[in-house]
Amino acid sequence: MILNDRKILLLYITTAFISHILGFPRKIPIGGIFDSDEMIQRAFEISIEAVNNKNITVAEDTMGVFLTLKSEKINKNAIRVAKRACKLVNRGVAGIFGPQNKLTANYVESMCDTLDIPHIAARWDSESKRGNVINLYPHPDMLSMVFHDIIKEYKWKEYAILYDNTDNLIRMSRLLKLPNMNSISAMAFHLGSGPNFRKAMKEVKGSDYRNIIIDCSTDILATILEQALQVGILSERYRVVITSLDLQTVSLEPYKYSGVNLTGVRLINPESPIVQRILQFRAFNWNLTNSSDLKVEAALAYDAVQLFARGYARLYDSVKGNIKKLFCNRTEIWGHGFSLSNYIRNEQINGLSGMIKFDTAGFRSEFHLDILNLEKQGLRKIGRWETNFGIKWEPGHRIPGVDDEKSLRDKHFLVLISLTDPYGMLKESSNMTIGNDRYEGFAIDIIHEMSKILGFNYTFEVQVDNAYGSLNKTTGQWNGMIGKIIAGTADLAITDLTVTAERQDAVDFTSLFMNLGISVLYRKPTSAPPNLLSFLGPFSKDVWVYLIAAYIIVTMLLFVIGKLCPVEWTNPYPCIKEPEVLETPFTLLDTPFCVIGALLKGNTGFAPAGISTRTLAIAWWFFNLIIGSTYVANLAAALATKSAAWPFKVAEDLAYQHEIKYGAKKGGSTLSFFKDSSHEPYQIMYNYMMDHADEVLMGKNEDGVWKVQQENYAYLMESSSIEYIQQRKCNVTQVGGLLDAKGYGIAMKKDIYYRTDLSGAVLKLKENGIINELQHKWWREKRGGDECEEKVKVQVEALNFEDVKGVFLIMTSGVMLSWLFAGWSFLWNIRNLAIQHNVFYRDQIIEELKFLAKCNSKKIIKRRKTSLETIKSNSTDS
Ligand code: GLU
Repeated sequence: MILNDRKILLLYITTAFISHILGFPRKIPIGGIFDSDEMIQRAFEISIEAVNNKNITVAEDTMGVFLTLKSEKINKNAIRVAKRACKLVNRGVAGIFGPQNKLTANYVESMCDTLDIPHIAARWDSESKRGNVINLYPHPDMLSMVFHDIIKEYKWKEYAILYDNTDNLIRMSRLLKLPNMNSISAMAFHLGSGPNFRKAMKEVKGSDYRNIIIDCSTDILATILEQALQVGILSERYRVVITSLDLQTVSLEPYKYSGVNLTGVRLINPESPIVQRILQFRAFNWNLTNSSDLKVEAALAYDAVQLFARGYARLYDSVKGNIKKLFCNRTEIWGHGFSLSNYIRNEQINGLSGMIKFDTAGFRSEFHLDILNLEKQGLRKIGRWETNFGIKWEPGHRIPGVDDEKSLRDKHFLVLISLTDPYGMLKESSNMTIGNDRYEGFAIDIIHEMSKILGFNYTFEVQVDNAYGSLNKTTGQWNGMIGKIIAGTADLAITDLTVTAERQDAVDFTSLFMNLGISVLYRKPTSAPPNLLSFLGPFSKDVWVYLIAAYIIVTMLLFVIGKLCPVEWTNPYPCIKEPEVLETPFTLLDTPFCVIGALLKGNTGFAPAGISTRTLAIAWWFFNLIIGSTYVANLAAALATKSAAWPFKVAEDLAYQHEIKYGAKKGGSTLSFFKDSSHEPYQIMYNYMMDHADEVLMGKNEDGVWKVQQENYAYLMESSSIEYIQQRKCNVTQVGGLLDAKGYGIAMKKDIYYRTDLSGAVLKLKENGIINELQHKWWREKRGGDECEEKVKVQVEALNFEDVKGVFLIMTSGVMLSWLFAGWSFLWNIRNLAIQHNVFYRDQIIEELKFLAKCNSKKIIKRRKTSLETIKSNSTDS
């Protein structure tokens, strides 16, 4: 063992000696100047280790090259950087990598130029010069081209550019100098110096721009996105392109659901085998939680070392020379730097950042980028940009707003339907036809109308077992139509397929083409038994009370007014010329009879003679006329409409009875509704249905309807289907209202690109009334629709006091008027009597009032000075 080690040492010393004499040493020092980003230094060191270990190099042919790192850690202080750089060249290095900061990098670059040492960079540099610099960062012009091509593909006619520094704006230069700039409106907004960038964003929001390009450095990208979300420019209304090559290293979780259409690019594909392989080597040293966290500059630092090693190997093979210790303050140069730079530039390797290749001007202008789109699952590759080919979209990718129209022209869909009336039915002539022609129905027509809008072709396939799709919680598998859509054996499913939250997790649905809710189908109930007091029905209780009150009040008033009015006091024996007694017909016995006689249209021979009594009578008769007619009319209607006897009024009632059986469709959304409901009666109902599943759960709706007609059975089904059945089966009907609100949609594979198109077509059909027309056609017109159209039912309701209040008011006015007349004629008569009998007016009043208070219907004429005719002629009433 000791001997072996000695041998190796001897071999090493000999090789070193020979190579010292013959040419460059294989052990080569390389300088690294690193500023704050530790990931770059780590990547650099790992790459050196990989070259030295030989087992993980991306660049082959580096055999024999052994790199030693001479690193310097710096800050932004230019003088210190100068010192550190000089220290490095003083120690003798074959090349210098870094730093990343623009100012300090420029200094190192010019020093390397002067001393003829290759300078390897991996940073965005807007002013790329040739010299001894080898920059692995894609050339700014070419990057600008990428975004130019994206905008062109997106056919943006207007866009705002949000940028953080003028240097970066170069990346956008092409976008501000497009050839068709006359027809394009573009504006650049400076984000400001931060940390608050909202002002510029608000300006963009306030403008009419809906397309935004965000161009900023990786350090502030997360803050910018956060603030953009707050300001509201990361929302459905905007389409945003992010230029940073490090977009994938930022957490995009909060923006996935913002609705924004966000496009980005990446240089490093974290899933590529080469990236995976390299990151696994010294995985601990990389210190990355995820391969997508690898930043571009770090990846380029790794690639830089690999490229350098390969270039140096070439130099070693062909040129004799040595490493020199140089001094910044002397004019001596290395002399091999330029050759080494050229060797490096002529190399072509496949690194972390893809194919690395330099053009004749020494720039990395040939590269490719992945174009990404932010979706609910995260960033998804939608295309690829290559220097010579421009953008190639992934197969099936459609650009929103551009490909919408033309997209589905050549598409052929396999559409699942079920034979459920009226959604999908076999034509009567189906035996004689083949293919799609065998089917007709509401769903069939909808697909046909959609195909007219979008231009796709389709073939229908019947779901034979009529299973729409339910999830088996134990296996996690979906059956029925949903299962087939997930498996990809069908493209679309349309029938009375309810959109539920559970199904929506597994597949996508279009917008709803029909709205409905769960209700109960039951046979029509029998009429209610006759009610003894049904004659009271036309009026409500309070009207009856007011009517009785009106009767009592009018009776009392007539009784009093009849006494006050002198004309009503007449001679009971007309043959006696000068009677001693006068009588009034308004006695305690007769007055109520007269009043009720008028009410009940009986002839009581009642004929008031005075103005006051007549006014009261007219008011009462008018009142009777209206009230009587209203009563008769309402009673007639009430007798024509017999109320029904419902064994239950709402679905819930079913839970607490044992006479009526009830059920729903097996595996349907109605049954799921009861299963998932936490409402106690619905839980009871679900348990009942599951306990009696064989008896009450149906394979299809038709079986449920049949059972409803034959047995004492209620079928829980969807209102749309109930409506259809009610039109055709006259002995069944819907009982109660809707238990929930939901709708039918067309199912398709999750996140499929044509989802928006199909939804848009459904909305169009709704907006232009086609869905309504189709619904009318299949519900009312075809296959026996309107068979059970109900006669217009008169729903008779008891009249409330409010309905007859006016009549009461008119009568009250009549009563008040009659009182006025009565009072006046009474007082006038007293005045005449007082004069006639030569007594005081007051005494006469008191006497008359006393008489009235006795309620006597006979009046004795005491001091008769004139004849009765005289009294009459003097009376104001006459
Ligand atoms: N529309 C239901 C579904 O999609 C089937 C009928 C029902 O459950 O009432 O599952």
